[in-house]
Amino acid sequence: MNSSFLPRSLSSPAIGPTVERVEALLIDLPTIRPHKLSVATMNGQTLMLVKVHCDDGVIGVGEGATIGGLAYGAESPESMKLAIETYFAPLMIGQDATRIQALMARIGKMVKDNRFAKSAVETALLDAHGKRLGLPVSELLGGRQRDRLPVAWTLASGDTSRDIAEAEQMLDLRRHRIFKVKIGARPLAEDIGHVSRIKAALGDRGAVRVDVNMAWDETEAARGMAALAKAGCELVEQPVATASALSRLVRRFPVALMADESLTGPPSAFELARVHGADVFAVKLEQSGGAFNALRVAAIADAAGIGLYGGTMLEGPVGTIISAHAFATFPNLQWGTELFGPLLLTEEILAEPLDYSDFSLAIPKGPGLGITLDDDRVSFFARDGLRRKIHPSA
Ligand SMILES: [Mg+2]
Repeated sequence: MNSSFLPRSLSSPAIGPTVERVEALLIDLPTIRPHKLSVATMNGQTLMLVKVHCDDGVIGVGEGATIGGLAYGAESPESMKLAIETYFAPLMIGQDATRIQALMARIGKMVKDNRFAKSAVETALLDAHGKRLGLPVSELLGGRQRDRLPVAWTLASGDTSRDIAEAEQMLDLRRHRIFKVKIGARPLAEDIGHVSRIKAALGDRGAVRVDVNMAWDETEAARGMAALAKAGCELVEQPVATASALSRLVRRFPVALMADESLTGPPSAFELARVHGADVFAVKLEQSGGAFNALRVAAIADAAGIGLYGGTMLEGPVGTIISAHAFATFPNLQWGTELFGPLLLTEEILAEPLDYSDFSLAIPKGPGLGITLDDDRVSFFARDGLRRKIHPSA
């Protein structure tokens, strides 16, 4: 891409270390069990990893992941790789790597949407700059207010007794005590029975919430929310698709209503707040278009008196940890997080695994993201890597 097409103000000479090279790769990882949502059943997860190489020798890492390929939205790991290699990289190379918001604005002028790819690239720039300065990314984002984040677990096997056994195991391990049940794919009565039995089995030992992933129409949602409130469910996530439908359901039932898919960055957050469309926002870094935009979404929620929850796109460790750094800076995080993505994967790709203990995730304290990729394992699981050569059908 010819940089002479750019407005003069967005092609100012570099001052600090510059971006030298941008590398994107796909890695395919198995999951511990099929993960059933109303939109897709996941039997594995593909991560798009981006490495930003800077001319001072610093390399930053970012990640993009989606739920079920293209089942959730317009971007896929493959499309992110293509967008970054073809369109982002030429805009980044030779630019000041230390002025992250300016560089993201430069990309934003030339690349519409592509929020997940933007989030991945911004993560890599933040990681590099944190490493350069010797500061955790949470400090670059304004400073953390907490060192650990509560993490919910999602029960999505689709089988009631298996879900109850899984929840009991998580309680025994002291890993999770907030459980989110994925519903919406089956008839309403079956789903209500499934949730009621799980809540009855766990009692006060575990909180139960549901995620409908927009599967219900408004009439079903009204019946469903009434029954879920009765069953002891404390929160219903995105039962219907639109902000206006959410706004007609909110506060009608003694159960909190959370917006997820409807939240696609600051303008949608403002619109949801304006129509009183939710009690809680599930903030996701990729859906928001990166950490800075996630902070803007949180500010809108705070101003509107809307509660906050740290959401996931089932990212691997890199996408999970940038989210953790951002959520650590939120003044309010009333509903905790669901940053369990790495626990759904059977394989570790970090040199040192993340610390999930005491019902929470520790936010790393080292420079940048504070994590190190195990490069041998990353190349083994790369799409054209050794694992595919040994097991072509994997
Ligand atoms: Mg959701």
